[in-house]
Amino acid sequence: MVARLTFLGAARGVTGSCYHLEVDGAGLLVDCGTFQGDRDAERRNREPLAIDVPGVLALVLTHGHLDHVGRTPMLARAGFAGKVLGHGATLDIARVILDDSAKLARRDPAGPAYGAEDVEAMASRMSALPGYRKPVRVGPFSITLYDAGHILGSSSVRVEWSSGGQPRAILFSGDLGVAGAPLLRDPNTAWDPARDSVDFVVTESTYGDRLHGPRSEVRDELQRVVERAVRDGGKVLIPAFSIGRTQEILYELNAMVEAGKLAGIPVVVDGPLGLSATRIYERHTDCYDDQAMQLLRRGDRPLEFDSLHSAGDARASRAAVELDGPAIIIAGSGMCQGGRIRHHLQRHLPDPRTDVLLVGYQAGRTLGRDLQEGRKQVYLDGEEVEVRARVTTISGLSAHADRDGLADWFSHLPRRPGAAAFVTHGEEPQSRAFARRLSDRFGVRAEVPAMGEVAKLD
Ligand SMILES: [Zn+2]
Repeated sequence: MVARLTFLGAARGVTGSCYHLEVDGAGLLVDCGTFQGDRDAERRNREPLAIDVPGVLALVLTHGHLDHVGRTPMLARAGFAGKVLGHGATLDIARVILDDSAKLARRDPAGPAYGAEDVEAMASRMSALPGYRKPVRVGPFSITLYDAGHILGSSSVRVEWSSGGQPRAILFSGDLGVAGAPLLRDPNTAWDPARDSVDFVVTESTYGDRLHGPRSEVRDELQRVVERAVRDGGKVLIPAFSIGRTQEILYELNAMVEAGKLAGIPVVVDGPLGLSATRIYERHTDCYDDQAMQLLRRGDRPLEFDSLHSAGDARASRAAVELDGPAIIIAGSGMCQGGRIRHHLQRHLPDPRTDVLLVGYQAGRTLGRDLQEGRKQVYLDGEEVEVRARVTTISGLSAHADRDGLADWFSHLPRRPGAAAFVTHGEEPQSRAFARRLSDRFGVRAEVPAMGEVAKLD
């Protein structure tokens, strides 16, 4: 019995999540995401996966973000013949994300890495798992999803197999959300040691050495910035992942509207993706937490209010860029590397009345990181743009658990004696710091695998 795990992405980096588990020649992939950030990332996105793709029985998606699903269509070209599994909401989101990225791929100057037909081929293999905590058998693997609290449908994935009659299990954390965040349930901590124990854990570490501000400050800060914008007539630009962050911000703004604090200031969600994602959120209310369910029962749809507008097509987007007076604009991409937020930034960064609110993780070498670090000049489409806008980071809105949140999640996991951890999905210093924390606090063997590294699971 040979079991091994190959790290094909998000190893000493935050993007490109992809893990290949092999047990006696049967393969399972967990996530197959896009690398983001620079030229090197673009090159790596085009490289074929150095694994036996036809031997992969299933690809399990932890959630629908591009950096977890974006390389999926490449598998179609490599002879993938398995199933694409995940929570129903995850598959809905993945479909929307992949259709969108196929469109972008067409415009790639290096030629498309894949086409709509590859997306279609993978979509036809999608099959929703029955939900959380319901094991499903695929070849030698038993696969179970647990709430990860990150975005709609997000899951930690436990995979069990038998080795010489003994059960062995690995848990992939997926991206872990923040406990106490609104709308969705918290990352699962209610494990059953008899059923859920694991020998190996692959855990994310995006904020492995950082703490977020408290949640209560988020609303205050948001309120402060919005009030300032109303006073000086400026724009509030919020670069946000269309999926997850956008809905969480809408939830916060809805609460402000209900409390009479938004004074009719228009809120524009610019981009078709944000719109479709919000619809998917409204379809899967089974993923909502108690508070959001209470709102629904009272007749308040938590992601809708009168002053909310959406700009679906390009013309509506241009109109949003030219909008007079104060407005809150939410647009992708979250790290400002692409998407419609760039048009708004180009137009409004030189205006000192503009506020840019950074609400998500900003990876190195992205425009978002440049703004966060206070650069006074940035380049947008080859044009130098002066930054006179105020840039504020609200870390409490992050979609990722912070250092203590990650450790708390780990502390609840039922681990078998000798359990080991692989710390991934973080920039190297973050991953190393979190690995140290795991071994100091829990006495587990914690490694920070490199890209392409193969770990024996025995
Ligand atoms: Zn994510």
